[in-house]
Amino acid sequence: MSALIYWFRQDLRLHDQPALQQALLHAAKTNSTLLPIYCHDPMQDAPTRWGFVRMGAHRRQVLADSLYDLDQQLQKLGSRLLVLTGKPRQLLPQLAKQLQASQIYCEDIAAPEEQDEVRALTQAGLSVHTHWQSSLLHPADLPFQASELPDVFSSFRQKVERAKVAPRRPLATPSRLPALPDISQVDAALLPSLKNSLSKINPTQTQPDARTAFAYNLPSCRASEVGGLDYLQRYFATDKASSYKETRNGLIGLDYSTKFSIWLSLGTLSPRQIDDALQDYEEEYGENDSTYWIWFELLWRDYFRMLHLKYGRRLYRARGLSDHKLPKHPAENFQRWISGETGQPWIDAAMRELSATGYLSNRMRQNVASFWVHDLQGDWPAAAAWFESQLIDYDVYSNQGNWLYLAGRGTDPRGSRRFSPEKQTKDYDADGAYRRLWGTLR
Ligand code: FAD
Repeated sequence: MSALIYWFRQDLRLHDQPALQQALLHAAKTNSTLLPIYCHDPMQDAPTRWGFVRMGAHRRQVLADSLYDLDQQLQKLGSRLLVLTGKPRQLLPQLAKQLQASQIYCEDIAAPEEQDEVRALTQAGLSVHTHWQSSLLHPADLPFQASELPDVFSSFRQKVERAKVAPRRPLATPSRLPALPDISQVDAALLPSLKNSLSKINPTQTQPDARTAFAYNLPSCRASEVGGLDYLQRYFATDKASSYKETRNGLIGLDYSTKFSIWLSLGTLSPRQIDDALQDYEEEYGENDSTYWIWFELLWRDYFRMLHLKYGRRLYRARGLSDHKLPKHPAENFQRWISGETGQPWIDAAMRELSATGYLSNRMRQNVASFWVHDLQGDWPAAAAWFESQLIDYDVYSNQGNWLYLAGRGTDPRGSRRFSPEKQTKDYDADGAYRRLWGTLR
C-alpha cells in the first residue's frame, strides 16, 4: 500500500480544508494510507538577533493546545497526529523514505521562509502539492491577476465589491480519514509520543495575566478548532456583530472586537467559515454598518495576503517597497519599549499588556508601532519580530503588512502614519481606565 503525508502548517483544522480534501481524493484513488504530521521548527526556539526567543510562551501555549485538540479530532476519524521537532526539509524526506511515500500535501504559504521549506522538499525529490486556502476570497476569483493588485486598499476593496466577488462555500469536515501507514519500519527516534512533543514545544505551561482581553486558558476561549467553532457559534448568538463598528476601538475586555484573529492565525477557524456565520447572522437579524465592517476588516486581512502574491520577498527587505534607509537599532530604547518603561503611560500600558497576555487591540498595535517608528526613531524589523514573538494571533502576512504600512515602507499612499499619543489618549482613554489597569497611571 502506498502512503501519503499531510503536512499541517498554519491550518490546524479539519473543516474547510481544501488541501486535506485533495489529499483524501488522492488517497481514495490510489488506495493509499495517510500520515498527518506537524513539524515544530527549532528555529522557533532560537533567539532572534535582538536576543529574545522567536516564539514566546503565550504562542507556545495556544499552539500546543491546538495541536492536542487536532490529534483528538483526528483520532475520532480513525487517524492521529504525529508532532515532530525538526526542520521539515530534514524530517519529511527521512520519514517519506522510511514509509516509501513520495507525495506530500499541504497549504500554500506565500512568505519566503515557508516557500524555501517547500522548495527544499521538492529538491529532495518529493512531490509537494500546495493548495492556497488561508484567505476569504480565492485569488483565482479576483477580477485581476495578483500582479495587477491595486496598491491602495480602498481600490482593492472597491474592485472586489463592484465585481461582487464572493467567498467560495466552506468545505465540510471529512467523515473519516484513510488508515495510518504501518509505521513499524520507521526509526523510533522519529516517533515521539504526542505528550513529549508538546512538552518540547511548550515547556512552561503559561497563563495570561488575569487582566487579559483574551483568556486563552479558559474553556470558553480555547484556541483550538473545537474552541473556535464553539466561540464562533456563541459570538453570533449575541448581538455583538450589530455594534462591532462602534465598539471595535475598545481597549479592555473580550467583547469590543471579534477576537477571531487568534483562530485565524493558527488556522483553527477558516475565514470562509466565519463569513458563512456572518451571512447567516445578517439573514436573520439584518445587515448594518457593523456587520459590513467585519467583512471589511476580513478584506484587509486578504489584502495583506494578496500583497504577498504581488511583491513576495520585496516585502521582507528592511526598506520594504520604499527606498528609505533603515535607522540604526536603538538598543536601550528598544528594551524600554518592549518592557513598557518608555515613560509614556499610554504606550507603556499597551506594551505591558502585550507581554503579559500575548494580545493587544488593533488601536494599541497602531499606537505602539507608530511610537516606535516615529517617536523613538526605531527600526521596524526589531519591533515586528517582538510582535511575532509575543502575539497569540501572530500571522506572517498581517504582521509584515501592517508594520510596513505603519513604517511607510509598504503601499500606503500617505507614506507614513504617526499617531499622536496625547491625542489618542484623549480620544480613547479619557478616563484613564486603560492606563490604570496596566499600572501606568495612578
Ligand atoms: P477585529 O477588529 O474583530 O477584526 C476582525 C478580523 O479582521 C480580525 O480577526 C483580523 O483577521 C482582520 N483584521 C482586522 N484588522 C486588520 C488589519 N489591520 N490587518 C489585517 N487583518 C485585520 N493581525 C493578525 O491577525 N496577526 C498579526 O500578527 C497582526 N499584527 C499586526 C501588527 C501591527 C503593527 C498592526 C497595527 C496590526 C496587526 N494585526 C495583526 C491586525 C489587527 O490588529 C488584528 O488582526 C486585530 O487586532 C485582531 O483582533 P480581532 O480579531 O478582535 O479584530
